[in-house]
Amino acid sequence: NRKLLVAGNWKMHGSLAFARDMMAGLKSGLPNDPGFDVAVFPVYIHLYEVINNKPEGIYCGAQNLSEYDDGAVTGEVSAAMLQDLGCDMVLVGHSERRTMHNEQSAEVAKKFAQAIKHNLTPVLCVGESLVQRQSEQTFAVVWQQIQAVIDEVGMAGLASGVIAYEPVWAIGTGETASAAQAQEVHQFIRSQLASNDDTIARRIRILYGGSCKGSNAHELFSMPDVDGGLIGGASLTVRDFLAICEQA
Ligand code: 13P
Repeated sequence: NRKLLVAGNWKMHGSLAFARDMMAGLKSGLPNDPGFDVAVFPVYIHLYEVINNKPEGIYCGAQNLSEYDDGAVTGEVSAAMLQDLGCDMVLVGHSERRTMHNEQSAEVAKKFAQAIKHNLTPVLCVGESLVQRQSEQTFAVVWQQIQAVIDEVGMAGLASGVIAYEPVWAIGTGETASAAQAQEVHQFIRSQLASNDDTIARRIRILYGGSCKGSNAHELFSMPDVDGGLIGGASLTVRDFLAICEQA
């Protein structure tokens, strides 16, 4: 009974024209009341264009936000600004930010707190690297990333968000986690959460991300603890993204 969410993380791709074309394509390609949620995450400077052109019912979010309220923080964007613009959601702790921008779990947790304070739904991205998987640290790594957020906002705070399990080795590599591998980690996350709060554990959505595409989405989405996908490469054309939506 958790509603699936199919979310497109456009990363550093696109243009204003691309944003308009995508919205027009989704408007004509998606059924009026699809029975699942759809969201897109463009770069900051394309948010306004998406928000002004998106069909009713599609959610829009940023890919990052500041951990601070406001002030002398050149180059950053606050949660209040995103909300003012009309954003619904925001990604926090994407692996590309953790690795390329050295974002630590404590900082990610502060960003998560900012998002919920301003009524944005944070999508908390977690996942292990290949080396961590090979050394059987997957569960420990993923749980540490989630625990840092619980330490900051509590279970009730976490419950306002969405979790996205994105194994780093599956991102942009064409190598998808098998449905069984995804389910194993999703189930682990949900059971850990259940030991804190069973109701929240049953309610929270856990998305899978990492080389998800039309041809594997059905199998992934039919796993009992997989509640949709966070899609990178295959969210960049209307055709590819709709092919995934069709499996939701
Ligand atoms: P790909 O779908 O391109 O592997 O990217 C996944 C991802 O990082 C979504 O946030």
